[in-house]
Amino acid sequence: DAVIQATGLGKTYAEGSMRTPVFDGLDLIVRKGETVAILGASGAGKSTLLHLLGGLDTPTSGEVYVGGQRMSALSDAERGRLRNRALGFVYQFHHLLPEFTALENVLLPVVLGGVSVPEAERRAKALLESVGLGHRLAHKPGELSGGERQRAAVARALVNRPGCVLGDEPTGNLDEKTAATVFDLMLALNRDQHTSLVLVTHDRRLARKLDRVLELHEGRLRELPPDEV
Ligand code: ADP
Ligand code: ADP
Repeated sequence: DAVIQATGLGKTYAEGSMRTPVFDGLDLIVRKGETVAILGASGAGKSTLLHLLGGLDTPTSGEVYVGGQRMSALSDAERGRLRNRALGFVYQFHHLLPEFTALENVLLPVVLGGVSVPEAERRAKALLESVGLGHRLAHKPGELSGGERQRAAVARALVNRPGCVLGDEPTGNLDEKTAATVFDLMLALNRDQHTSLVLVTHDRRLARKLDRVLELHEGRLRELPPDEV
């Protein structure tokens, strides 16, 4: 029941003669419905790990399996389709398309998955309602508050019912109270839809709310016992 599995995962960035080894030999299994926090100092490699898990970057060694499919065995187009279907992404900055309304931003991944526009619109609307944005459907990102934009980004990540949502500091750009609200919203959607969550955060209080807390430190991934978080 693994939604994501990484085995022997390693990444070294190489630019000319400059080599930056980030980590090597990481193993990780994210099971269906599980919530996982990834902690670590700045530069520890958290974003790199998340990009590899999401197939946005290629590992130097090791393999990533998403929904049982080996990412390295897929073509770019196949990987793109798998990503759109099986994974959702939330970043520190919302990355919503500024010229499109909240509804259009959320229905886009559904349409890209081959669903008709009216059906995509129905799903996007239902999900925006469930994140408390039912009254903001026609608003463009610039007309939304920071918390509302992030909730729209969460809705966009979840609209294709992915097995797993990968979040890179998804609440890092919000004030403490709004951050907690958006975080709790993701946990509620995790409970309702059994979507696994892998969230990079530096906020230990938020990390404590998740099933497992992993710390990336000097190239190793270590499971922290609850009393150490
Ligand atoms: P974190 O997310 O934990 O802050 P990153 O994954 O962003 O860490 O970065 C890990 C290391 O890899 C850092 O030393 C960073 O400078 C380096 N790095 C990240 N992206 C690149 C890149 N595209 N090219 C070269 N080095 C990179
Ligand atoms: P609920 O969780 O109450 O079903 P949702 O807001 O998740 O409500 O979805 C509204 C409707 O759209 C439901 O009928 C749901 O089954 C359907 N739906 C949403 N997303 C998808 C999807 N990716 N694939 C199939 N059906 C979906």
